[in-house]
Amino acid sequence: MLIYIEKQAIDYPQTKKILEKFKNSKVIYINNYKNLFDKNYTNLFSKKSLIIAKINSNSVLDAPIWYWHTKKSFFFKTSLNCIYDCSYCYLKWAFKNENMVVFINYEDIKRDIEEKIKNIILWEKSWKQNEIWFYSSDYSDILWMDWFSWFCNEFIPFFETLNLSLVEGEWLHIESEIFMEIRTKSSNIKPLLDLWFIPKNTEIAFSLNPQKLIDKYEKWTSSLDARINSINKLLDLWFKVWIRFLPLLPVNDYEKIYSEFIDYIKNKVNFCDINSTFASWLLYTKKDYNKILSKYMDLDILHMLDLDNDWFYRESKKVRETFYKMFKDLDNNCILCLEY
Ligand code: SF4
Repeated sequence: MLIYIEKQAIDYPQTKKILEKFKNSKVIYINNYKNLFDKNYTNLFSKKSLIIAKINSNSVLDAPIWYWHTKKSFFFKTSLNCIYDCSYCYLKWAFKNENMVVFINYEDIKRDIEEKIKNIILWEKSWKQNEIWFYSSDYSDILWMDWFSWFCNEFIPFFETLNLSLVEGEWLHIESEIFMEIRTKSSNIKPLLDLWFIPKNTEIAFSLNPQKLIDKYEKWTSSLDARINSINKLLDLWFKVWIRFLPLLPVNDYEKIYSEFIDYIKNKVNFCDINSTFASWLLYTKKDYNKILSKYMDLDILHMLDLDNDWFYRESKKVRETFYKMFKDLDNNCILCLEY
């Protein structure tokens, strides 16, 4: 394993803990992770390396207004790039190379999150009583990498404390509910089971797809059965669990594959215990679609999408309507956010 360490990250305890986990690695010290990560560059000896870095700005970003179920939501970054290799993943063209970056200055990232909340409380009073969501897993699979990032142990307890914030020197009880989502295709729930409490403000969202499609399009992710086992273990302990059917793939035979899949999971998971379900299809802006197509011309599912008037590529109306009905029928008591 090759590890690059930014010079400004060397003295952080987190850096030392990570190096303990990768004892026999070759280490190269660098000035700025961007000099490596923002370049079209392939490692000489291995495809992926680890870069340990400090994030100095933009650790918390506004999520687009249409993203999921609340108008006030943010993405935050503690790492970049993913060990998994989903064919359709936007990370494939969002970043220039496949190295993984892990940021070690968690305290600064937490401060950035608190800052966002304070700004909402101070400047957007109409949001005071609404939900505010922070999405942690849009840049990598956080749960998979927890064994060397200790993300859960750091951020889940932190999110339990955020309803009380120091605003202009005064401790204020914030009426908004503040939540974090950890989205995953990993069945690694050990860091959750190792917590000393059941979190109220963190929801674990498992992305599910039929096993046949996991094998073909979601390389190296946990199997469907392993994810279902993890879901059920967490439900038994009263964790808040979401299921995301994301993305639904317009493969040949999709009706058969997905109806068998729905029958299968209906028997394995009690959907009334699931906090919410969400289903969505593949969606790319025209620009992103052209980028991924130029890189992966032979990716069959790309050729099954249509360009709509809003300049987004998505599945045909017929496919979307079929999915909509299927997932509406799955469990009417659960929320299904599937528009067409
Ligand atoms: S698990 Fe998520 S982040 Fe990782 S490659 Fe797949 S889609 Fe991308």
